[in-house]
Amino acid sequence: MSTHLLNADLHCHSVVSDGTLTPETLAQRAVDQGVELWALTDHDELGGQAPAIAAAHALGLDMLTGVEISVTFAGKTVHIVGLGFDHHDAALQAGLAATRGGRAERAREMADELAKVGVKGAFEGALKYVGNPDLISRTHFARYILETGICGSVHEVFSRYLADGKPGYVPHRWAGLGDAVSWITQAGGTAVIAHPGRYGFSPTEEYALFTEFMAHGGRAVEVMTGSHSDAERLKYADMALEFDLLASRGSDFHGPGESRCEMGSLPPLQGRLTPVWEVLNERVLRA
Ligand code: AMP
Ligand code: MN
Ligand code: MN
Ligand code: MN
Repeated sequence: MSTHLLNADLHCHSVVSDGTLTPETLAQRAVDQGVELWALTDHDELGGQAPAIAAAHALGLDMLTGVEISVTFAGKTVHIVGLGFDHHDAALQAGLAATRGGRAERAREMADELAKVGVKGAFEGALKYVGNPDLISRTHFARYILETGICGSVHEVFSRYLADGKPGYVPHRWAGLGDAVSWITQAGGTAVIAHPGRYGFSPTEEYALFTEFMAHGGRAVEVMTGSHSDAERLKYADMALEFDLLASRGSDFHGPGESRCEMGSLPPLQGRLTPVWEVLNERVLRA
């Protein structure tokens, strides 16, 4: 039986990274939005997995373990989602801890750079929004800058201050692509290229990303994500077929009022694709 119409949402964030809701509240929201298979994919951190699994179990919601790993590839930051791994795996946990390291120092540098362009007190300001001190991110800075009234939206904050090349952007070296894919697959999981439409790669760089990702053992790509336009949904469906990759679907929900897309609300995957969850049956934590 085809499972294309399963309402799977395999990408979202809690307060354990840069979301605004707890894992428990997200599990309830997933149920309320009709999600039938859920994964919490906090950035570089597994601390939300146990409470998410317990909450999903209590609510009768099937789920997969999840994570979104920050990777540096061809001079840009790329995100690799992992699904269905053993969240107690020591090598995965150590890799993520190493990836998180340096965020605090980077945040100090970001605050110094922002002060030079007139945004004062950004380190302390961002910290107010941080749920997990190990995971201070640009999103927390964005919430503070919005609060100061300098910008009218998070989108404006990123385009004026925090995007690559803007005054508050501090380049950072994240995990290697091969390392991130290996941590996930050796822990029994499946690696997925997150929101490929967001990276601004040339066709050559994008081809290199897909081929190197697959050479390291990566198997899937997000086609349906909150940040893809209709044209990108078509383009990456074509690329999934061309590269023989499985397809994933995830809102990338960060919180009410902040996200492009509500949980469970994306269109289904195109019928010509193979959903990534078709190979993850045995990894589903059944309620
Ligand atoms: P970091 O890991 O600290 O570099 O922060 C990256 C996070 O910033 C992403 O996971 C998104 O949640 C957020 N982000 C990046 N670009 C944008 C954007 N243009 N608009 C809103 N949020 C963004
Ligand atoms: Mn985020
Ligand atoms: Mn991402
Ligand atoms: Mn995300």
